[in-house]
Amino acid sequence: MPTLRQLIIDLLHDEMVNAIDISQILSIREKEVYDHLAHISRSLNAKGEKLLIDPYCCLNCGFVFKDRHRFNRPGRCPQCKGGHIRMATYTIVNK
Ligand SMILES: [Zn+2]
Repeated sequence: MPTLRQLIIDLLHDEMVNAIDISQILSIREKEVYDHLAHISRSLNAKGEKLLIDPYCCLNCGFVFKDRHRFNRPGRCPQCKGGHIRMATYTIVNK
């Protein structure tokens, strides 16, 4: 049986998904998804692949969290202090 992490990798090969999609498809908590993503991101390098991230973005002012290194959701926008943040999405691509 494939591991949970392998299932997430398969999903990321197929399409662009966000952490909520992954948590719902695999019935795990969103927080767990972020832990797996961090690990997957580090391990892909060895296989000549990388995790492509379309970063979190503020729906109020358009601020893009492109320098964010953590995977979990930002609480609010540093620019306008708004709390409506679009989810980051992820997919796996060849380097
Ligand atoms: Zn903003």
